[in-house]
Order: sequence, then C-alpha cells, then structure tokens
Amino acid sequence: MEESKYNATVVGKILLRPDIMTLRLDTDEPREKFNAGQYTLLGLYGREERSPNSTPETDPVEPDKLIQRPYSIASATNQLEQFEFYISQVKSGQLTPRLFNLQPGERIFVSKRIVGVFKLAETPLNQDVVMVATGTGLAPYLSFLRSYLVDRPESKMAIIQGAAKQWDLGYYSELTFLDSTFENFTYIPTLTEADSTWNGHEMWIEEMLEKNVLKDEADIDIDPGKTHFFLSGNPKMVEKVSGWLLKKDYSKHTRKQPGALHVEEFWS
Ligand SMILES: Cc1cc2nc3c(=O)[nH]c(=O)nc-3n(C[C@H](O)[C@H](O)[C@H](O)COP(=O)(O)OP(=O)(O)OC[C@H]3O[C@@H](n4cnc5c(N)ncnc54)[C@H](O)[C@@H]3O)c2cc1C
Repeated sequence: MEESKYNATVVGKILLRPDIMTLRLDTDEPREKFNAGQYTLLGLYGREERSPNSTPETDPVEPDKLIQRPYSIASATNQLEQFEFYISQVKSGQLTPRLFNLQPGERIFVSKRIVGVFKLAETPLNQDVVMVATGTGLAPYLSFLRSYLVDRPESKMAIIQGAAKQWDLGYYSELTFLDSTFENFTYIPTLTEADSTWNGHEMWIEEMLEKNVLKDEADIDIDPGKTHFFLSGNPKMVEKVSGWLLKKDYSKHTRKQPGALHVEEFWS
C-alpha cells in the first residue's frame, strides 16, 4: 500500500440537514494566496466508510484509490490554513457519502492547488455585482462576501438565492445579518415551494429579473456595462438565467474573452 496522501484534518462538521453540511479543514501546510470564488480538490480513499444514510455502491471503488472531486472554497482568502466547504451529499456518489461519514479529528486529502476563473477580483471596483445561487452553489459567494464586502463600498452587491423550501436556504442567518449591516449588500431569497409562514418572494429567478426586483430592492441595473452577474449551482438554473442574460447583451466571461457573465456549473 502506498503512503497516505492525507494532508489535512477535519476541525468542524455541521450538518445543516441530513444531506447538507459545512466542513472545516485545517491543512498541515498553508496554501498559496488564492482568489475568492476558486476551488480545490478534496479526496478520500475508497477504503473509507460511507455514511449510514447513503445508498450502497453499485460499482465498489478500489480501497487504495484516492477519490478526488472539486469543491469551491467558502472561507475568506486571508485564511490559508483553514478552509470551509459547503457540501451536499449525493447518496449514490463515490466521494460525498465518505465525506459525510467524517468526524472531527479525522484525516483527508486537500490538493495544494487552488484554481478556477470564477473570480470576483477582476470585476472593476466601481461596478455592481449580482450573485445568483441554488444549493451549495452559494459557496463561492460566501468567500466573495467574507473577503471583499468591506473593501468594495462603491460596489452594490446582491445575492439572489433560489430554493424549494425555507430550510433549503443555507446560511440564511449570516446573509440576513450582512443585509442589515452593510448598506451596499442586499440579500434576495426566493422559494418555489414555500409554506404559509414565508413572507418573501415566490418566483423563479428569471421571473424575478424580468419583474425588476433587483432595481426595486438593490438599485442595481441589468446592464453589462455596469453590473457583473455570477451564476453558480444547478446546471438547469444556470442555463435558464444565462439564456435570459445573453438576450440582454451579456457575454460569457472566459479566460480569453472577458465578459460580465460569470458561470460555475455544478449539481448542488
Ligand atoms: C468547479 C466545481 C466546484 C464544485 N463545488 C462544489 C461545492 O462547493 N459543493 C458541492 O457540494 N459540490 C461541488 N461540486 C460538485 C462536486 O465536485 C461533486 O461532483 C459532487 O460532490 C458529487 O461527488 P460524488 O463523488 O459524491 O458523486 P459522483 O460519484 O461523482 O457522482 C455520481 C453521479 O451523480 C451526478 N451528480 C453529481 N452531483 C449531484 C447532485 N448534487 N445531485 C444529483 N446528481 C449529482 C453526477 O453527474 C454523476 O453522474 C463542484 C463541482 C465543480 C466542477
């Protein structure tokens, strides 16, 4: 058996729901400076136990195989030895059932490389920023806000978070607190299956944009010359909202071609 590649320790695990958690990891060595919005690889060996509420593997993984997947960093960029992740369990998946079985003090692999072009840093300081998320797609925005909210007072920032029910709105308390504390930040949650206790929005994200909710609540214009959009999470949401924005003259940001529409797709 080769030497273990584990190089980090679990220092915190909070289950927000049976299949959603925040995971905090201390790396043995500090990582190099990174940009809010970037991701790294987490890994566990096939021999690790799966969580009790996952489904059995149809295709078992070799015990000595290091299963690695990318995860967006949710913590601030000034923390180079402790990282927070916001993770949803795919019950039939290879890695997440093993991640959900971890306990504080246990060991894990965290890649030394932090990469990705989904970065707030390149957005001009005087331009506004709209961050749209479903599920754990919120993770990169937590890093944006924790790293930059105070440093960008001239930039109006808004998070539009789409979910089915109230309890699917991860980090609701932190986002509500930031909304009430910072003049330049607006939090706009919207639900598609709300119960009668919900007083907020109940519409799809494209509908919300169409109805000018951003202008009314955050004084933000949908204009590629003034406002950058970030979309992160469920591929269907990303496809629908980016389709709507492309019709409003937005163009996708790539490494070679700068644009005001930034996209990070992953199931969440
Ligand atoms: C750049 C990037 C950043 C990411 N950041 C995060 C993050 O911050 N938090 C997070 O939870 N995930 C994130 N992901 C997704 C993550 O990398 C894994 O794909 C996910 O955790 C599933 O891994 P797994 O090994 O358990 O499942 P796998 O064994 O890889 O997946 C099994 C199958 O399920 C599908 N699948 C994957 N995820 C889901 C899902 N959620 N629901 C339904 N089907 C799914 C896959 O397409 C695959 O066919 C990110 C992905 C990318 C590309």
